[in-house]
Amino acid sequence: MQFSSYHDLRDALISRRITCEEVVSGYLERIERHRDDNIYITVFHDGALQRARELDRKFSEGAPPGKLFGMPMAIKDNIAMKGARLTCASKILDSYESVYDATAVARLDAEDAIFLGKTNMDEFAMGSSNENSAFGPVPNPFDKTRVPGGSSGGSAAAVAAGLALAALGSDTGGSVRQPAGFCDIVGLKPTYGRISRYGLVAFASSFDQIGVLARTCGDASLVLGVMAGKDAHDATSSSHPVPDYSADMDALRVEGLRIGVPKEYFHESLNREVGAIVMAKLHELRDRGAELVDITLPQSDYAIAAYYILVTAEASSNLARFDGARYGYRSSESSDMQAMYVNSRTEGFGREVKRRIMLGTYVLSAGYYDTYYKKAQQVRRVFQDSYREALEKVDVIAGPTSPFPPFGIGEKTADPLEMYLADVFTVPASIVGMPAVSVPVGLDSSNLPVGMHLICDFFEEGKLMGIARCMQRQ
Ligand code: GLN
Repeated sequence: MQFSSYHDLRDALISRRITCEEVVSGYLERIERHRDDNIYITVFHDGALQRARELDRKFSEGAPPGKLFGMPMAIKDNIAMKGARLTCASKILDSYESVYDATAVARLDAEDAIFLGKTNMDEFAMGSSNENSAFGPVPNPFDKTRVPGGSSGGSAAAVAAGLALAALGSDTGGSVRQPAGFCDIVGLKPTYGRISRYGLVAFASSFDQIGVLARTCGDASLVLGVMAGKDAHDATSSSHPVPDYSADMDALRVEGLRIGVPKEYFHESLNREVGAIVMAKLHELRDRGAELVDITLPQSDYAIAAYYILVTAEASSNLARFDGARYGYRSSESSDMQAMYVNSRTEGFGREVKRRIMLGTYVLSAGYYDTYYKKAQQVRRVFQDSYREALEKVDVIAGPTSPFPPFGIGEKTADPLEMYLADVFTVPASIVGMPAVSVPVGLDSSNLPVGMHLICDFFEEGKLMGIARCMQRQ
């Protein structure tokens, strides 16, 4: 049985029309049938069934159901779950098992979610197409010759193909939002610090956030509400109070809403159909009483350059811990310790990860630090100021999630710069740390999904999701 939202599934579970075990068996069968799609790296077949039976038993004994009672979820394979493989889709961690749970996972577990498995991704979350995985690419459920987006491609495809009702991803520059846009689902990246990063394998620590992929805005907000909040294990997690996101969503009124439309987002290089579908949706909201406000974000052209300097710098430092000694893969070829480090990293990391480590080391090196890294930090500050200023005048900044529809598998792999352009609309929210979401707004003439990307001010996730819900394609 397939459910289009957790709301419907919960109704069926609470009224005892269905059991958790039946729900999980149904999902596991579907996962098995879609095995060739390469969406999951690990499936918790026995563990998920056992957990479902345990929840059924507790419920039948009168225990109150948790907020996510029986919700079948998938977890991106860079988020730690105790006793489970944690590969980051990399050969270097192929055999590594986590010894603890990420805080986000522990909080979902405490509210009775059920975990079906760990999903495929770009290696160490570096990529926009899921093609950088040591486990191979994932086809887009809408068109199997195309990519599902990345880096959380497995999580997005799992939700879109009905192999999980919701999934966790991680978003450093768009990795939750862009694949959500490519797979016609909702993808939410909260404010930096809203969700603890404890147990999320670090890529670029000052950008990384766990995010949610779901079919509806309501489901995404529900999952966010469970995970959000201060965590003693992550000093960068925020103690900002966690509001009732569904109440905030319900309070949202379209009338009088000021939607900022940056002229730089509707550049001539934007795919025509994508631009037209996004514009049509904005006009629809205007007809319902919102005001469209022309705004300008003149530094937009520098987003990709600043982003790739800053994240590669952080990545080169974060990935130093994978040395063959402490985690996972170790080369068997080495004559001394230095060679063991070098060979383990050379054999264990894929091409894109190596490219980024080299780029990051370069921009941090004496002589280039000021020219590249320091400059990019200054650009980050300029972005922060200008997005803050823009959001004093408008409630939300709107535009497309991706400049083009899902592209073909193999189409952009030869040219990394071309691939990096996929992130042009999603990286600014990561540079500034504001919450952002991709919501499905239409299909183009080839039946490929188009996402709308929305950014709100810090900690305004409830309002953001309320606006997204008004826009979602029915
Ligand atoms: N595609 C972007 C990159 O490759 C974003 C990745 C992410 O958000 N994890 O860096």
